[in-house]
Amino acid sequence: MTKRVYTFGNKKAEGNGKMKELLGGKGANLAEMNLIGVPVPPGFTITTDVCTEYYTHGRDKVVEMIRPEVEKAIAEIEAHTGNKFNDNKNPLLVSVRSGARASMPGMMDTILNLGLNDEAVEAIAKKSGNERFAWDSYRRFVQMYGDVVLGMKPESKEDEDPFEEIIDHLKAEKKVQNDTDLTTDDLKEMVKRFKAAVKKQTGNDFPADAWEQLWGAVMSVFQSWMNDRAILYRKLNNIPAEWGTAVNVQAMVFGNMGDNSATGVCFSRDAATGENLFNGEYLVNAQGEDVVAGIRTPQQITAEGSRRWAQSQGVSEEDRASKFPSLEEVMPEAYKELDAIQRNLEKYFTDMQDMEFTIQDGKLWMLQTRSGKRTGAAMVKIAMDMLDEKLIDEKTAILRCEAAKLDELLHPVFDKDAMKSAQVMTKGLPASPGAATGPIVFFAEDAEVWKDTKREEAILVRIETSPEDLKGMNVAAGILTARGGMTSHAAVVARGMGKCCVSGAGDAKIDYKARTLEINGTKLKEGDWISLNGSTGEVYLGKVATQEAELSGDFAKLMDLTSKYTRMKVRTNADTPNDAAVAIKFGAQGIGLCRTEHMFFEGDRILAVREMILADDEDGRRKALAKLLPIQRGDFEGIFEAMNGLPVTVRLLDPPLHEFVPHTEKDQKDLAKHLGIGFETVREKVESLHEVNPMLGHRGCRLGNTYPEITEMQARALIEAALNTRKKGTQVNLEIMVPLIGNVNELKYQKTIIDNTARQIFTERGEEIAYMVGTMIEVPRAALTADEVAEVAEFFSFGTNDLTQMTLGFSRDDIGKFLPIYLEKGILEQDPFQVLDRVGVGSLVREGVNKGRSTRAGLKCGICGEHGGEPSSVEFCHTAGLDYVSCSPFRVPIARLSAAQAAIKEGK
Ligand code: PEP
Ligand code: MG
Repeated sequence: MTKRVYTFGNKKAEGNGKMKELLGGKGANLAEMNLIGVPVPPGFTITTDVCTEYYTHGRDKVVEMIRPEVEKAIAEIEAHTGNKFNDNKNPLLVSVRSGARASMPGMMDTILNLGLNDEAVEAIAKKSGNERFAWDSYRRFVQMYGDVVLGMKPESKEDEDPFEEIIDHLKAEKKVQNDTDLTTDDLKEMVKRFKAAVKKQTGNDFPADAWEQLWGAVMSVFQSWMNDRAILYRKLNNIPAEWGTAVNVQAMVFGNMGDNSATGVCFSRDAATGENLFNGEYLVNAQGEDVVAGIRTPQQITAEGSRRWAQSQGVSEEDRASKFPSLEEVMPEAYKELDAIQRNLEKYFTDMQDMEFTIQDGKLWMLQTRSGKRTGAAMVKIAMDMLDEKLIDEKTAILRCEAAKLDELLHPVFDKDAMKSAQVMTKGLPASPGAATGPIVFFAEDAEVWKDTKREEAILVRIETSPEDLKGMNVAAGILTARGGMTSHAAVVARGMGKCCVSGAGDAKIDYKARTLEINGTKLKEGDWISLNGSTGEVYLGKVATQEAELSGDFAKLMDLTSKYTRMKVRTNADTPNDAAVAIKFGAQGIGLCRTEHMFFEGDRILAVREMILADDEDGRRKALAKLLPIQRGDFEGIFEAMNGLPVTVRLLDPPLHEFVPHTEKDQKDLAKHLGIGFETVREKVESLHEVNPMLGHRGCRLGNTYPEITEMQARALIEAALNTRKKGTQVNLEIMVPLIGNVNELKYQKTIIDNTARQIFTERGEEIAYMVGTMIEVPRAALTADEVAEVAEFFSFGTNDLTQMTLGFSRDDIGKFLPIYLEKGILEQDPFQVLDRVGVGSLVREGVNKGRSTRAGLKCGICGEHGGEPSSVEFCHTAGLDYVSCSPFRVPIARLSAAQAAIKEGK
C-alpha cells in the first residue's frame, strides 16, 4: 500500500531530511529536526504525491484515500499532547501549512488554530486561564479559514480585506488604535461579525466540526499550488508544476498566550550582507503571521541587532531598552536555547538557516528550518566564510553559489560623489542591498505598465507588500514599504530576487487613492523620482547617479577559486578597448568575438562605409576602403594593446549591407550631397540592397567572397595593427574568423585572400607575425561537414545565435510574436535564444566538435553566441568538450562560475 502520511513527534519521525521530494522541504526538515532532538510540535506530513492525486482524482476521492492514515496520525498527536481532536472539552488545535520541495515563501496558504468553534474556545479559555488569548486565537482562525478556504477576499485592489474592514470598524467604534487594545468582549463581537459576514457572502454557516475544517484546509493548501502567485513564482524560479506541495499538520503551540509567549523568525547569518551574525525578529504575545505581515513593527532577537536597529532608526538607547528590547533581554533563558539550536542547525545542515519559532509560556518550539534565501552578496560571503570556517570544502563553496545571482554583484552602485549631495528624505530598514533609482508607482500592476509602455523601471511604493505583488516587484527597480521589518514579505522576497528594498520607512505616508507619497512634508505623486539605498535604508529625493560595480573581496576570492577547478576558459565578446578592459577586470582570458562592423558606426566613419557600399565598381569600393583602412587599423591596435597578448578573435564583416545605409529621404539626401551624386542614384542603390530574407541573404562570408577587396582591407588592417602593436612591445595573439560559412569552399576562398594579403605585408615590411584563420559554425551544414571544414579552419567558434535561428527555423528578430504563447502552452520550455537547445542545436555542436577534431586533432573550439554567458548553456559547452565560452563582459563572472561548477559536477 502506498504510504501517503508520515508522522513525527517527540524525537521520532517516519521521514527524514533527505525526503524533500516526497515530504517537501518543510516536512523533511521537521522530521529531521525531530531525529536530532530539536523540540518540534508533533504532527504529520501528507506527501507531494497526494497533491498530484488531488489534481487527477479530485477532492472527494483524495479525502477517502488518505482518511485512515490521517485519522491514525491525528491519534498519535493526541497521544503526544494529551488533547483530543474535535472535542469541545479538551480540544487539540492544529496548524495546516504548505511545504513544497523548493521553498516558495508566502506563495501558498496557511491556517492556524484549526479545531476551534464556539464551545472549544471556552474550553481553551478555561484551560489556559486566559480568555482573551482563546478568543484572539478564534478570531484569527475564522479570519484565516474564511480567507483561504471560503474565499472571502477583497473585491478589487483598492478595496480592503472584508475581515480587516470589520476590524477597522470595530476599532473605530471602540475608539482604540491597536488590535491589542480590544477587550475580550470586543473579540467575541468580532468573531460574531466575521461569522455573519461568512454566512452573508457564502450562504453557509462557518463549519464547527474540526474534521470538516481539517479536510477543507488540507484541500485548500493543495488548491493553492495552482493559485496565480504560486504559478508565477514557479515560473520565475524554474520550479516544475508536477512537483506539487506537501501539507504539514502540527499541534498548535501559541505565541499569543500572554507576555511569557512570543513568536519569531530568525536567520543564522545575515541574509542581506552575509555577515556571520545571528539575527531575526520577534513579537511578544503574537502569532506567526503578525511578524511577517508587517502590521506590528517587530523587535530584534539579539541585543546587538537591537542596538544596531535603534541606531539606524534614530531611537535612543533608553527608548530602545524600554519599548523595543531584544528577546535576549526579555526572555534570556529561551533566547539561550534558541541560540544553541540555531548554531546546531547551521552546523548540521552546513548552510545558513532561516528558522521559525514560537515560545509558549516560556517553552521554546521550533516550527521550521530551511536554507535561507539570500542576496547575491550574502551568497558569496557565506560560501567563502563557511569555507574559511571549514564547514564546507572548496567544491561545495563553488557549487553553493548560484551563477545567475552573481549578476546582482555586477549591478551599478551609487556614485560616491553623487551621494555627497544627495538629499536624504528618510531612513527605513536596509532590507535588501543595492542602488535603485526610478519613478514611483503605488500598485504592482503599474510597475508592469511603466516597464512595458515607458520602458522605465519604477520604484514600487507600498504600505506593505503581499504575495499578489510579486509580478510588479519583479519588474521594479526597487521597493519601498512604510511598514514591515527585515523579515516582512517585501524584504524576504526582494532579497530572494536580489532586488533593492527599503522596508519599514515609518515616515512615509502613502495614500493609494490619491496616489501620493508624503515624507516629512515633501509630497510626491506617481511618476516623481526617488532613489533607494538598500544597504543603508536611505531614501533620496530625485535621481542619484550610479557607477559600475567592481570585482573585489569575497567575490574576487570566489572567482580565483573557480580558476582552480575549471577546464574551459572564459573569453569575452568585445568590440572596443573599453569593453575589453572591463572584461579583463572580471577575469576574461581573451576576446572570443570582436564584431568589426560595430566599429563602422562611430563618428563619421559611417560615411566612408556608405561610400564603399554605394560605389559602382571595384575601383570605387577600393577608394572608400582605403579611407577605412587606417581607422580599422587604429581600432585593432587599441584592442590588441588592451588584451596584452591574450587571444583576440576578430570576425570579418558579417551583416547585410542595407543595415549601413540611410533609409529616410532626408538622410539619403544628406548622403547624396556628401558624395556629390544625385539623390535618385542613392535612393535606387539603397532600394537595390533590399532583400526578402536578409538573414539568409548577402551577408557573412558571402560579402567577402563577392567583394574580396573588403576582406583584403580588413586582413591588412589586422596584420598591420598586429605588427605595429608588437613593435611597441605588446604581444599579439591574433585569430581571424570568417563568418557564416556552410561549405568549405567558402572558407578556402576567404583564407586564400587573407594569406595572400599577409604574405604581401610581410614582404613589404620585412617582418612576419603568427596568426590563425578559423571560422564560425553558424550554418547547420557547416556543423554536419565539420570534418571537411576543419581541414582548412584552424579553429571553430560556434555562433549559436545564427545556428539556433537556422536549426529551429525561428527568426531571431521575429520570435517575440509567438515565443510567449509557446512558453505558456508548454510547446517550448525556454527561449532557445537564451538557453541552448541541447537536443537539437546541441547535437549539431557535438557533431561539429567531434567531426572537426577527426580531421584536425585538438582543434580549438569555442562558442560566441549569447548562450556563452548563460549557466545551463555553459554547462552544456563543458560536456560537449569546448575549449572556451565567450560572452559579454558583465557575464564573464557568471560564465566562470558556471564553467567551474560543470567541471566539479562532472568529476563527482
Ligand atoms: C552568432 O550568430 O551566434 C553570432 C555570435 O553572430 P551574430 O550574433 O553577430 O550574428
Ligand atoms: Mg552570427
